[in-house]
Amino acid sequence: GLVLGIESSCDETAAALVDEGRRIVAQRIASQDDAHRPYGGVVPEIAARAHSERLTPLIAATLDDAGVTLGDVDAIAATAGPGLIGGVMVGLVTAKALSLAADKPLIAINHLEGHALSPRLADRTLQFPYLLLLVSGGHCQILRVEGVGQYRRLATTIDDALGEAFDKTAKILGLGFPGGPAVERIARDGDAAKVPLPRPLLGSAEPHFSFAGLKSAVLRAREAQTHAAADIAASFQQAAIDCVIDRTRRALAESDAVTALVVAGGVAANKAVRAALEALAGEFGLPFVAPPLALCTDNAAMIAWAGQERLAAPHFASDPLDIAARPRWPLDPEAAPVRGAGV
Ligand code: ATP
Ligand code: MG
Ligand code: FE
Repeated sequence: GLVLGIESSCDETAAALVDEGRRIVAQRIASQDDAHRPYGGVVPEIAARAHSERLTPLIAATLDDAGVTLGDVDAIAATAGPGLIGGVMVGLVTAKALSLAADKPLIAINHLEGHALSPRLADRTLQFPYLLLLVSGGHCQILRVEGVGQYRRLATTIDDALGEAFDKTAKILGLGFPGGPAVERIARDGDAAKVPLPRPLLGSAEPHFSFAGLKSAVLRAREAQTHAAADIAASFQQAAIDCVIDRTRRALAESDAVTALVVAGGVAANKAVRAALEALAGEFGLPFVAPPLALCTDNAAMIAWAGQERLAAPHFASDPLDIAARPRWPLDPEAAPVRGAGV
């Protein structure tokens, strides 16, 4: 059967239909980059308005693409948090209305669970438990994914997320919005050894990440006006990768056995990050799994797939119509709070 997925937690309005055989039957993504570009970042109120204007026609078009109606779907899965609350509410309320109108079960999905299970959508051989590096615009975490709904957080950032560090670096270098892909692009023409930059928490006994000091050093390097933007970008990217590899190596060494090293989230689209992680997996004799680039950044196929995983899990229960949208929603509620960190 089909699950309809809806995603609206940041600045992509997206709908998708995914079947239990992991086929993405149809999907549409409307990016709001043009609407936010003049402000150099996502403006929550503009995002919420854009979602509310676009989501309903986008869902209709997605159903049309697949040649099905709401009556043909088994369940409706929507991101219920964490994210920008106005956008999340638009997606979740729309899902509730469709669920009620078509008498279909509602499945409220944690956006991070969507990212966490996305590698299994593209790779049917990937089994639990796996070690997941979740690197996105709002998060930088290492999780042991033990099953559907079973996530043990081993590390998080004490300040900025990795995607946020890429975005801020892009802003400092005047590369515009969105920043991550632009930094990756110009870093290819730069010399990563040119600009000495710090690697916060490298070799630290604690498991966590930190990127705020790296970002400040990028700002100072830019202000000194002695380096080319491409060299700063390449040096930043290498410093960030060194941190990620060091922290992930520590987690692999400390963690109980896993079947694979897996990366997900927007920054997983970065080819240099992927290559470094693949080499690290090799050190531990583990397979490396990364979703195709289009499944790394926000999309609704991963939300629909998380819905399929929830449907197939033992003791499935749909969510009640009064379930709330949540701006914050930790994947691992047991994880100890970390100074300065969000979820
Ligand atoms: P979260 O998932 O934490 O709620 P989000 O949904 O905004 O945050 P994603 O869409 O998963 O984040 O990822 C977007 C982030 O990924 C942005 O910070 C963006 O700059 C970064 N990103 C996307 N492509 C690349 C790339 N090629 N290299 C580096 N960073 C990238
Ligand atoms: Mg976006
Ligand atoms: Fe995301």
